[in-house]
Amino acid sequence: MRSQIIRVTAPLRQRALAQPILPFRLHSTSSRAGSRVTSPAAKALRAAPTIPFLGALFSSKAAAEEMSYPDQRSEDQWRAVLSPEQFRVLREKGTERPGTGEYDSHYPSKGVYTCAGCDAPLYTADHKFKSGCGWPAYFDSIPGAVTRHTDSTFGMKRTEIVCSNCGGHLGHVFAGEGFPTPTDERHCVNSVSLRFTEDADAASKESAAKSKA
Ligand SMILES: [Zn+2]
Repeated sequence: MRSQIIRVTAPLRQRALAQPILPFRLHSTSSRAGSRVTSPAAKALRAAPTIPFLGALFSSKAAAEEMSYPDQRSEDQWRAVLSPEQFRVLREKGTERPGTGEYDSHYPSKGVYTCAGCDAPLYTADHKFKSGCGWPAYFDSIPGAVTRHTDSTFGMKRTEIVCSNCGGHLGHVFAGEGFPTPTDERHCVNSVSLRFTEDADAASKESAAKSKA
């Protein structure tokens, strides 16, 4: 059984590695037909800088940093309106200690959780569920309110979620954990990134007024 698996996977891996190199070989045969360098070492040298370079260019971390949001306040402007803890979490991607957040064990029957930075409505009371993880958990967000990025810090591949309006860090989203919710996703959000209001209409009006100003 074991030797069979090795025999099957090895050629597959070779094929996968060969694919990105292929354009190089085509290029060099067409433009420099007479002086084609064919030694495997030379091929590897020419191909090697390209693949990691492309990887870095298109990594989602770079994309996340270049992303622009409608609310373009500067670091100083955020410091002026946020508490030091809000600034640490929202603007510096910090994490509050589990089980300490204001909304961890908060299960209202109605209302809206808005971004503590810019007041954009993010989650409704209906999205919240009991996960036992120590942070507020939501199985979904208000459509378009939350933006996802791949977060590769701490040697893990996680999906970071930020406010789509101001880019403020909310937490991470985890999928396929087996929670009995409609999405089987868990938006694990810092309480400090949120503000709750029972009056959903007031929340969306306030947010609309602010984005126009
Ligand atoms: Zn926001």
